[in-house]
Amino acid sequence: SIFSDIPVEKGCPFGRRLPCDIYWHGVSFHDNEIFSGQVNKFPGMTEMVRKITLSRAVRTMQDLFPEEYNFYPRSWILPEEFPLFVAEVRMMKESDPAWKPAFIVKPDGGCQGDGIYLIKDPSDIRLAGNLQSRPAVVQEYICKPLLIDKLKFDIRLYVLLKSLEPLEIYIAKDGLSRFCTEPYQEPTLKNLHQVFMHLTNYSLNIHSGNFIHSDSVNTGSKRTFSSILYRLSSRGVDIKKVWSDIISLVIKTIVALTPELKVYYQSDIPTGKPGPTCFQILGFDILLMKNLKPMLLEVNANPSMRIEHEQELSPGVFENVPSPVDEEVKVAVIRDTLRLMDPYKKKKKDNLFPDIYMDSKQRFPSISVIPLSPGTITLYYRSQPSEPASEKKEQLSEGGSTDKLEHDSSKSPEASLPSPCLKQVFPKYAKQFNYLRLVERVAALFIRFLGVKGTMRLGPTGFRTFVRNCKLSNSNFSMATVDILYIDITRRWNSVGMDHKESGMCLQAFVEAFFCLAQKRCKSLPLHEQVATLIDFCEYQLATLDEKRLVCSRGIMERRPALITYQPDGLHLAPAHHAPLLNRMAAANKLAGYRSHRL
Ligand code: ADP
Repeated sequence: SIFSDIPVEKGCPFGRRLPCDIYWHGVSFHDNEIFSGQVNKFPGMTEMVRKITLSRAVRTMQDLFPEEYNFYPRSWILPEEFPLFVAEVRMMKESDPAWKPAFIVKPDGGCQGDGIYLIKDPSDIRLAGNLQSRPAVVQEYICKPLLIDKLKFDIRLYVLLKSLEPLEIYIAKDGLSRFCTEPYQEPTLKNLHQVFMHLTNYSLNIHSGNFIHSDSVNTGSKRTFSSILYRLSSRGVDIKKVWSDIISLVIKTIVALTPELKVYYQSDIPTGKPGPTCFQILGFDILLMKNLKPMLLEVNANPSMRIEHEQELSPGVFENVPSPVDEEVKVAVIRDTLRLMDPYKKKKKDNLFPDIYMDSKQRFPSISVIPLSPGTITLYYRSQPSEPASEKKEQLSEGGSTDKLEHDSSKSPEASLPSPCLKQVFPKYAKQFNYLRLVERVAALFIRFLGVKGTMRLGPTGFRTFVRNCKLSNSNFSMATVDILYIDITRRWNSVGMDHKESGMCLQAFVEAFFCLAQKRCKSLPLHEQVATLIDFCEYQLATLDEKRLVCSRGIMERRPALITYQPDGLHLAPAHHAPLLNRMAAANKLAGYRSHRL
């Protein structure tokens, strides 16, 4: 282990009350009150990756960019979209009688295959009783997965969201492949119930008599993903293409989650207030189809970092035994995450070790942890001599040696660590994906008009101010119509979902209202162009307004230097305020570009 040599001499007698460099929480951002340092969770991430929220966020992107987001199976939210589900399936069947679909029903917030079942027809949904209390997602079942040794398998990839603003994403070069334990057959009424055939969850398949604990990394029911790619490449598969499709799926998924994550972020850590910065390791579950197209199954905010598994020695007697496959993949992910977040870098000059606070329930793979006070663990890490990087791992990296971490490691002890497993994909490939980040710009408008810090919902006044400041109201669209639009959409959004109690317009409702306005203004364009045009227009109007305000407040300043320079109108100051003129010019250029394009 690279972290085994941990000095014990330093203590942390005040536990979590002392500021730490890194807080390593087990569940969520809110496990502690933190005002500095770095936390391994983003506020709102757990909520964002729930099955319903993820499906909603991806669907918004599917509305804008259907081709780019076809890596997520068609999904419906139950119970509210049950009639839509029935109607759409009927329509699709009518237009293509050869289509013999199956569907998978997944309870919201479930994990480890809990409560999941397959159906062939919408009428088979168990709507009675508990669906009302337990919402779910019903999804088109991918009937033709890629098989290895006749078995279905999925891929768990680890992704580090290093920062939200600016967006920084890293992907681990290796992941895990989890295998079913019964040979796969396409779903029929007879085999629908066979979980060992259809569900790849480790937690389910471990109970199958056929489960094989892997003692090496390329056999058994859990293998490294690199071993799968190795096999595929020996069959002549273009694994570079597979890998680049996976990178693109990961970036697009995070682009879909980012807008709402930013709303959560500003509500928990308002700009200008002391707070920590966040990072998070996410577990992406991906299924490769027979034609090698990767499909997203789900995102995990708390992926298991266990490197042991339980073994039943005799009936009822269990023992934890090391799992080499988990260790190979997970140790590298944690090691590189710590290297990237490296508070030690800052402290290097003073020759100090970083303080890491960790929930006592947790275990880093192969890192000894020292409980110092109840609930608190302080941990110090040191490097060990390097291990040779395996050939197979190298094969995964695109172009071989370019994926360096951001360290000048030539002289540091890090030079002796194994080669990095986390590879930066964003901003590295930003140019190919930035055009997708439209909803993020809509969210920036939403945040600007939220007004009260800490809130996540827009009141009617905030919405009116948005319309007025962006000059969206005219003879065809009166302020009375604006109010009706607000009430109509907000009421509908608040009548679905879980948090009925809160009033006001949530981000998704604002996005819907925004799309609605965009469609009204430029009817003939495709939706994403309508939306982009309206965003450009709004950004231009707001930049102009900011500039006017700045000039005005300068005038007041010159006359009465002691006066407050900014008259709040319920607006949250956007970062754009720092460079209004530049911003306005950028917005004006875009607008001019659009106009000439239309002419
Ligand atoms: P959970 O969080 O309960 O594990 P998942 O969404 O990961 O829920 O689904 C569990 C398993 O079901 C997956 O690992 C996969 O094997 C299978 N599965 C899920 N969705 C689909 C789908 N649309 N098509 C085919 N198989 C699926």
